[in-house]
Amino acid sequence: MNQSNQQIANWPWKQIWRIKVPHKVSIFVWLLAKEATLTVDNLMSRGMTLCSRCFLCKETAETVNHLFLHCPFTAHLWRIIINLKGIAWTMPGKITEALSSWEGMCSHAKDRSRWRIVPACIWWTIWKERNSRCFESLENDVQKIKLNFILLLCFWCNQIYSNDTVSIIDVLDSL
Ligand SMILES: [Zn+2]
Repeated sequence: MNQSNQQIANWPWKQIWRIKVPHKVSIFVWLLAKEATLTVDNLMSRGMTLCSRCFLCKETAETVNHLFLHCPFTAHLWRIIINLKGIAWTMPGKITEALSSWEGMCSHAKDRSRWRIVPACIWWTIWKERNSRCFESLENDVQKIKLNFILLLCFWCNQIYSNDTVSIIDVLDSL
């Protein structure tokens, strides 16, 4: 298998298009996986002159992989789930690798449909916070960002099982 066929074979289609999240979120995750989201690094590569600083930690350049994988703010959200399950996970270097790695840990989950929406939920929460800071100068502290993530996760889980109303405790316990 040549390199481009290998890349296609490794592309995490199912983890992007078969998860039960709003369609606009699937498109957003697909753009993320292609590293084509309109983060500062991508805008600058198109010739725009901007101050390339992460809107969350304000410490380093805003790249797709920093903002969504390695930023300390984003790491807090991953740790909620990782600590809940008591598992060890080393954050991969790329979005596609993170999706594949998360899928590889599915066996730890009681409810795999819920497990699979966690990365998209983290990324959507971070993207909304980033845009709120960038365009509206509104900042939530890390506790509020964590709460936003949990509430969004519950909201999407409720939509998977529309006949049941599920509580935050139910959702966290089912992961
Ligand atoms: Zn950051």
